[in-house]
Amino acid sequence: MIICTVLMSIFLYANKTEELAWPKGETFLTYLEKYNISLNLYYNLEKEDKELCAEIVAGSNYFQLLDEKGSLIQVLIPISEEMQLHIYKNNENIYKFKTLPIVYQEIEEILSIKINNSPYLDILKATNNKALADEVLRSFSNSLNFRYMRKGDNVVIKYKQKIRLGKYFGQAHIIGALIEIKGKKHYIFKNEKDTKYYDEKAKSLTNFFFRTPLSYTRISSKFTKKRWHPILKRYRAHLGVDYAAPRGRKIYAAANGRIIFRGRKGAYGNTIIIKHNNGLKTLYAHQSKFRSGLRVGSRVKKGKHIGYVGSTGLSSGPHLHLGLYKYGRAINPLKIIKITKNKLKGKSKKEFLRYTKRIINILKQSINNQALRVTKLERNSSSSNIDLNSVL
Ligand SMILES: [Zn+2]
Repeated sequence: MIICTVLMSIFLYANKTEELAWPKGETFLTYLEKYNISLNLYYNLEKEDKELCAEIVAGSNYFQLLDEKGSLIQVLIPISEEMQLHIYKNNENIYKFKTLPIVYQEIEEILSIKINNSPYLDILKATNNKALADEVLRSFSNSLNFRYMRKGDNVVIKYKQKIRLGKYFGQAHIIGALIEIKGKKHYIFKNEKDTKYYDEKAKSLTNFFFRTPLSYTRISSKFTKKRWHPILKRYRAHLGVDYAAPRGRKIYAAANGRIIFRGRKGAYGNTIIIKHNNGLKTLYAHQSKFRSGLRVGSRVKKGKHIGYVGSTGLSSGPHLHLGLYKYGRAINPLKIIKITKNKLKGKSKKEFLRYTKRIINILKQSINNQALRVTKLERNSSSSNIDLNSVL
């Protein structure tokens, strides 16, 4: 009986790092409570860090190390592809909090395959990279019907992919891709300036247009993914844009969509999240109150009045914090809001075409090139026995 209990506890609380999915409904505060960590760890944080704690996404993978008794030694919780929250016990057994950049490697390579089954399955077979297969389908979804593809057609993709702890990590980043159907070539290219896909004539393939969601006084804080603060000697991030405006100023939906969250969200206070097409979501934080009559599930049109500017949650004055997410990843709203045309023009078109010419050559040369080697990581590779300190 005793042996059994001992074995059980070793099994349960072996001193090793676990990789877990953040449960739905769990917040930074409920997590602290679960491990009997003083909530002051949170309450003593600065405003920006508290906002980041509201960015934890259910389902994202985090790494946790417990001692034999089941108490927390340290944990790393991602809040974007770039940043993570680190809670750890210091030498005096006091819990500390830090925001840290996520350490990863990035590969850049070219995949060239002939269709045997379907683009999705063949990309998966060649690379084991689901994020890449998903992104290729998404990127061509507005310009190509994959049903017309036949055995022997060509797919060439120039892409970047992050790798963390021996696994693919985050979204696949397509630089350019060529799909050849019955000898006809179809291209897409990512324009780094606005993160949208265009064809070889600089015509946009992802038509999403956003409006500024209020009339504001000034932009009081811009988007930063990770920035080393030389005086504070720490990393800071701000995953949205802050628009200063008087309390009570109306807030409008930035684009057509459906409300998927309406309520309090940690340091963001009264928050509405709207889901749009193309894997996009917008988040409107710190509202004084919501417009009545709207609820989770309500469809809203671009420009629909949804709430009022306020200072709820953690906020030093009335403002709207606007977040924009693409497939769950925070992107800079100002990069997207500025764009109102679906074609590049003038200087930006010239620059883009010069850039794509080079990529087209690379893609064309890679058709039928069997010598290309791409990374193929084991699927479901186990992540136990990871030394957490090695990823800090
Ligand atoms: Zn903000």
